[in-house]
Amino acid sequence: MHDLQDMLLRISDQIYREADWGQPAQYIPELASVDPAQFAISVCTADGQTYSAGLAEKSFSIQSVSKVFALIATLGRIGDQLWSRVGREPSGTSFDSIVLLESEKGHPRNPFVNAGALVTTDALLSGREPKFALAEILGLVRAMSESDDIHINSDVAKSEEVTGSRNRALAHYLISYDNLLNPPELTLGTYFHQCAIEMTTIQLAKAGRILAGLDGAPRVISSHHARRVNALMMTCGHYDGSGDFAFEVGLPGKSGVGGGLLIIAPNVASVAIWSPGLNDYGNSKAGTRAAALLSQGTGWSIF
Ligand code: GLN
Repeated sequence: MHDLQDMLLRISDQIYREADWGQPAQYIPELASVDPAQFAISVCTADGQTYSAGLAEKSFSIQSVSKVFALIATLGRIGDQLWSRVGREPSGTSFDSIVLLESEKGHPRNPFVNAGALVTTDALLSGREPKFALAEILGLVRAMSESDDIHINSDVAKSEEVTGSRNRALAHYLISYDNLLNPPELTLGTYFHQCAIEMTTIQLAKAGRILAGLDGAPRVISSHHARRVNALMMTCGHYDGSGDFAFEVGLPGKSGVGGGLLIIAPNVASVAIWSPGLNDYGNSKAGTRAAALLSQGTGWSIF
């Protein structure tokens, strides 16, 4: 598999040469000042190997990639009951949009737009203190990555609490349709803290192994649920950029405004990429480019 290692180094070189980084998320003060000219990629393959290039041991804010872990935890806890509160359709709107919530009566389109993620986290919280739900998510992530060195950056969480008016608006709108059951500050606080989990690309790629169905991955989710999470990542993982991502990369993926990407090549590999500058959809700009190069180079597209 030296070929794959060579390919990752070539991709990393090309990304640094092109230097087309985009801008880090400006609305979360702790993320706004991150240097955009950074790149990392890690790939776990079916034979149990992990290959990396770039800053693969540098922790970054996983932000909305955490929605995958919160969804897995919630499916484990309440299973299909979740679908009475949130849908499985792409939204065609940005991650923090409120427009569809009005016409669709407080039923968010999917668990990956912010409204749907708030409902998912609210279901996981289910009357407990936030620290218990957060411990469940963090424990899951650590088990999936086989690494205890994964933490929540409370400065990032606090910085989002200050600027999180849109998420607050979404939460209150959900309450008006009886689709938020805990006090909104508790659900929002849990959500901001789950988004502030920090991981390296090596840890994130390892966490994705179970979704890729790789042997040796800790079995924290049934293959039935894993298939469904992959389907949602394929159709909704990049918000209104999901069609473009399917077109260019052809693999299930989930992005975060910290610049992280988790990408699943079913039965073949789990991929994590990080570059903090974003494109117009709020997804990593150089990361998406690197994902397209990897998909072209390997032929891993599911299409
Ligand atoms: N914490 C961010 C927010 O709620 C996550 C958004 C994202 O990563 N797309 O706005």
